[in-house]
Amino acid sequence: MSEPDTIFSKIIRREIPADIVYEDDQALAFRDINPQAPVHILVIPKKPIPKLADAESEDQALLGHLLWTVKDIAKQEKLENGYRVVINNGADAGQTVFHLHLHILGGRQMQWPPG
Ligand code: AMP
Repeated sequence: MSEPDTIFSKIIRREIPADIVYEDDQALAFRDINPQAPVHILVIPKKPIPKLADAESEDQALLGHLLWTVKDIAKQEKLENGYRVVINNGADAGQTVFHLHLHILGGRQMQWPPG
């Protein structure tokens, strides 16, 4: 199934600039353009899965890899004091870019519950 192109696909193809902090064959991570914390990084699969709910059984290892990548990047960013990982899935969650992404937020005290 072909997925619609998003701004994140353009970042993967280097058609628009981004502050890339990590890349491997399956994943890319870059700084959020509108940071909500001192450290705000997005980790995305290179495969264009629109949202978590669209992931398929064959994507299970990829989903695990993305979370593993979050852990490595948080260490690289020296977020020893903690950090939050967020996936907004769909309209009610406020998802705006329909290419699966994990937000890493750190460098300040987070509140709970989120708004
Ligand atoms: P979400 O609301 O979960 O869909 O998050 C989308 C995120 O992508 C927001 O935090 C935006 O600030 C971020 N974003 C949108 N365009 C860009 C871009 N060109 N480079 C980096 N981050 C972006």
